[in-house]
Amino acid sequence: MSENAASMTDEDGIKRRGLMLVLSSPSGAGKSSIARNLLADDFGMELSVSVTTRQRRGSEIDGRHYNFISERQFMKMRDNDELLEWAEVHGNYYGTPREPVELAMHEGRDMLFDIDWQGAEQLDSKMRSDVVSVFVLPPSMAELKDRLHRRAEDDEAVIEKRLLNAAEEIEHWHDYDFIIVNHDLAKAYSEVRSIVVAERLRRTRRPGMFDFIQGLIGK
Ligand code: GDP
Ligand code: ADP
Ligand code: 5GP
Repeated sequence: MSENAASMTDEDGIKRRGLMLVLSSPSGAGKSSIARNLLADDFGMELSVSVTTRQRRGSEIDGRHYNFISERQFMKMRDNDELLEWAEVHGNYYGTPREPVELAMHEGRDMLFDIDWQGAEQLDSKMRSDVVSVFVLPPSMAELKDRLHRRAEDDEAVIEKRLLNAAEEIEHWHDYDFIIVNHDLAKAYSEVRSIVVAERLRRTRRPGMFDFIQGLIGK
């Protein structure tokens, strides 16, 4: 993690507020690939690790990609108000643990959310001024299908279910701040980075600007 991301000030030494970068897409469009790139680079982004009742995929690490929990544990967290948002997606429950997000925002650190439209809607209504939402589209439905097969992580019935749900997810595109078409992963990644770079400069995310300006012009 970069030094400025862990502290309350940005590269200009100005007090900042963290942002919540929400990535959604139909399954297979590439949001996890974009997220992986963002997390791998020293770009000051941390993943909000969701809890889920879904089975762990072979490539996934418990505690890093998700916290895999039972339905009983999930309901307990939900009922104790430990989830900032939650939803049933493709027949499994997913939720965002509240505490790490509230801490990050308070400390001026940026967080990345790989969540569906239902979760994006809930975060948007609760924390509108902190949220920057990006919807990732596939170039075509045929390519989406190919990607789900090429990923080779889900069995055929799961892939079919995800393809059937894709149109419903895409219908929510208009609720997002930015739309990206993922033809080429490097380009899509660079576009998401540009969004974050710009959003970090937004006046409302720089509460220390008042002091900086005072120092600058002495008023
Ligand atoms: P380790 O030392 O082998 O555990 O390596 P890292 O923790 O640095 O991560 C290895 C790879 O996993 C990098 O490409 C990271 O970006 C990626 N990674 C780390 N955390 C997450 C995560 O929560 N979600 C996803 N999708 N990728 C992650
Ligand atoms: P999601 O998280 O949206 O379900 P993934 O990031 O897992 O999607 O991507 C689905 C599959 O498509 C993965 O195998 C990934 O490597 C591949 N992929 C992602 N972006 C592209 C792209 N621009 N071109 C070709 N393949 C891609
Ligand atoms: P996958 O099973 O492919 O990892 O994720 C399936 C869907 O659930 C994706 O659309 C993903 O963004 C979404 N998802 C993952 N975690 C959460 C979460 O915590 N909350 C919500 N609402 N959706 C989530």
